[in-house]
Order: sequence, then structure tokens, then C-alpha cells
Amino acid sequence: MGAVVLLSGGMDSTIVLAWALRQYGRDFTHALSIDYGQRHARELEAAVRIAKHFRVSHRVASVRIDLAGSLVDAYDADLSRRANVSPDIVPMRNAILLSMAAGYAARAGADTVCIGACEMDVAGFPDCRPEFLSAAQHAFTLATGEPISIVAPLLAMGKGATVKLARELPGCWDALALSWTCYRGGEQPCGECSACVARADGFAHAGECDPAMTEEAAE
Ligand SMILES: [Zn+2]
Repeated sequence: MGAVVLLSGGMDSTIVLAWALRQYGRDFTHALSIDYGQRHARELEAAVRIAKHFRVSHRVASVRIDLAGSLVDAYDADLSRRANVSPDIVPMRNAILLSMAAGYAARAGADTVCIGACEMDVAGFPDCRPEFLSAAQHAFTLATGEPISIVAPLLAMGKGATVKLARELPGCWDALALSWTCYRGGEQPCGECSACVARADGFAHAGECDPAMTEEAAE
């Protein structure tokens, strides 16, 4: 029993980690971050700080799949039009990260993998959609020989609702101050990229201020 939580260091996975800790307890929750050659280290550094903040077991694994930066680079515009997905998506990334988490879960004796896919991801990323998650759950159960569940607690939630959930979860607000969402790797979030804009929208919808923008805790 227990859960492996894919912790990118961003806002959604931070909220899911706090949710899992409440759901499964600290002894049965394992955070997993995956270094796949992200363009900057800010997210992974944030993941380390967030796991420390929650005092949860944390592993940073790495994967190097050198298919012309396949886990980092988005589709080219032509392909994305044909596949009917956003040009920003990275093909199969979530599918690969979920597979690694399922393997780690089998090793750690956990029967659940938690991912921070949210409503907005469902629109853009085919491997965040409920149909894929349920197919992957079936495939991983066959692959490991043990029942395994994929849980995406934010899947039906907009950003505003996730911010409200974060308010209710113990320790989550302080952890959000440590999280990193920006696609760029500057000293401070740029405030302009689509990730920064979506994050700011979420806090605005919930009528809250982003603790990462208001506290020194982000240091
Ligand atoms: Zn940004």
C-alpha cells in the first residue's frame, strides 16, 4: 500500500503531494522527481525543497532518452496540427514519467501513483486525459503483475479550485511558496510565459495572493 507522487516542483504536483500526505500518511507516501534534462534546474531544486518541507521520502531519478531532446522539445507546428494538440506539448512525456513512477511504486511496495494533471492539461496533453490514465493503469497492472492505481486528484479542477484546495491542506500554502512554475529559469518567475500566466490566473480566481510572490520563503 501507499503512493508514489510525481513531484516536478511546480504548483500542481506540490498540491498533489500535500493531498497524498493527508490521504495516505507520511509513512506511505514517496515523492519522486525525474531529471529528464529540463531546460533549467529551478523546478528540480524546488522539488527538493518542497519534499524537505513536508519531511517526506524523496527520490530524484534521471532518464536520458536522446531522441533529439524528446522529453524536452515540443512538437513542431506541422506535426502538432496533424495530431490536433497544442504545439507546446512534449509527446509522451507524462506517459514516460508515469511508467517510471509505476516501476518505482512496484519496487517501493506502493499500489498508487499520483500525478498533478489538471483540467487545463487535459485540454492540451493527450497523455493527461482520463482515457489515457485509465488505459495506463490497466497496462501498468499487467506490466507489474500487481494492481496499481493512477490517481489524479486535480483532473477535474480548474486552477482556481486547486488554489482553494491548497488552502485546506496542511503545510501546502508554505510549500507553494517554494514551488517553481515558470518555463524560464531566471532568478524570479518571468510573469509572462503561459505557465506564469495560468498560475497567476488561478490565484486571482481564488481571490488569493501567490505565496511564492509574497514571501521570502522562495529563497
Ligand atoms: Zn514564466
